[in-house]
Amino acid sequence: MMRFVVSMLAFLALCSAPPARAELDVARLKAAIGAAIETDYPRLDAIYKDIHAHPELAFQEVKTAAKLAAEMRALGFEVTEQVGRTGLVAMYRNGAGPTVMVRTELDALPMEEKTGLPYASRDKTTWQGRETFVAHSCGHDIHMASWLGTAKTLVSLKDQWHGTLMFIAQPAEEIGAGAMAMLGDGLFTRFPKPDFAFGLHDGPFPYGHINYRVGVGSSNSDSLAIKFHGRGGHGAAPQQTIDPVLIAARFIVDVQTVISREKDPIEFGVVSIGAIHGGTAENIIPDEVVVRGTIRSFKPEVRTKMAAGIERTAKAVAAMSDAPPPDISITEGAKAVMNDPALVATAEKALKAAFGDKFRTSPPVTASEDFSEFANSGVPSMFFHIGVYEPERVAAALNGTAPPLPPNHSPLFAPVPKPTIQTGVEAMTLAVLSAFDQRAPGQ
Ligand SMILES: [Zn+2]
Ligand SMILES: [Zn+2]
Repeated sequence: MMRFVVSMLAFLALCSAPPARAELDVARLKAAIGAAIETDYPRLDAIYKDIHAHPELAFQEVKTAAKLAAEMRALGFEVTEQVGRTGLVAMYRNGAGPTVMVRTELDALPMEEKTGLPYASRDKTTWQGRETFVAHSCGHDIHMASWLGTAKTLVSLKDQWHGTLMFIAQPAEEIGAGAMAMLGDGLFTRFPKPDFAFGLHDGPFPYGHINYRVGVGSSNSDSLAIKFHGRGGHGAAPQQTIDPVLIAARFIVDVQTVISREKDPIEFGVVSIGAIHGGTAENIIPDEVVVRGTIRSFKPEVRTKMAAGIERTAKAVAAMSDAPPPDISITEGAKAVMNDPALVATAEKALKAAFGDKFRTSPPVTASEDFSEFANSGVPSMFFHIGVYEPERVAAALNGTAPPLPPNHSPLFAPVPKPTIQTGVEAMTLAVLSAFDQRAPGQ
């Protein structure tokens, strides 16, 4: 009986086995990718340090884009410039198969770099009418070097995949406008809409490590501005006034009940009032007060619920004081990045095999990222993070024996270039290969 069951099971296993499909030979590929980067690294290092020393701000990335365009043309990509003002699209066709998009950002930040590195930026430019230093303190230069290295590695491995590479360099991520600008300029109509998209970001954790998530990876970010109207008058005769300071104060307290009583406590949602402006002197009740804040959430339904609650609370506190209705403006910012479960599952297999427990899941970040626009346009996407610092320094900072390491946007943010870029290239190349493998031609 036992033998019968065993042979039946073996038979069923044979019947239900999927048609034979090439699995990625990750160990062999990782070795090949590693060797390719080792040879290519001096070129990448020179480009990285040049871009780092000469950063450009949102929608001013003309020289940066030209440098990337020249490199991609030299690799055999067909390059279109000025997509979404300063963005570029580089296509590489290699037979029938899916189109896989890889995105880098181009822009830097209006701030002074204080790392003291030999290749630190001393460049200045004009931003919002004022002269400012410019620095790659978010590490978008690391992303560009990884993007170029990935392109070259994938071209050198072109017998391993079939389909089209769509490498895009996006402007103005820091102001949350570049992805929309490229989409608005026909990114998915003038060029093929990709089957899959990948992006990466660096962060202040050990190099060689990769953090990822299934589902939501960063927050929706919206801003609120509410002007409460009252009736101004003497502080000693409040009965003749409608006091907008009191209305605003009530709003600031009551709006937190949207979070604590209306939103599901298991779901992430934050409202923070960061500015309140009203009044001039202690004995004058002003006629208006403006309140500004930020709203963060992961899920669209939580976002909608919070916006409705905020609006209702603002109107209600005004009505309680018999004040005119307030002017309410809730402005949508970047949306949450949603990592596609099927795409992540495929990449996960390859990256787990290549990086072991250095490839691990992490909680979503409450910061925001406009890579979300591509996923929201219907492209299954994956966004992951790579570390930038020496593992020993990170460990010492964590156990308190060394000072905390500078995060992104710090004037001291200083990734260790070689291992960081190498990990970026290895991880991105394997992720792209896994996506091609998922939909090999004829399947
Ligand atoms: Zn940033
Ligand atoms: Zn960034």
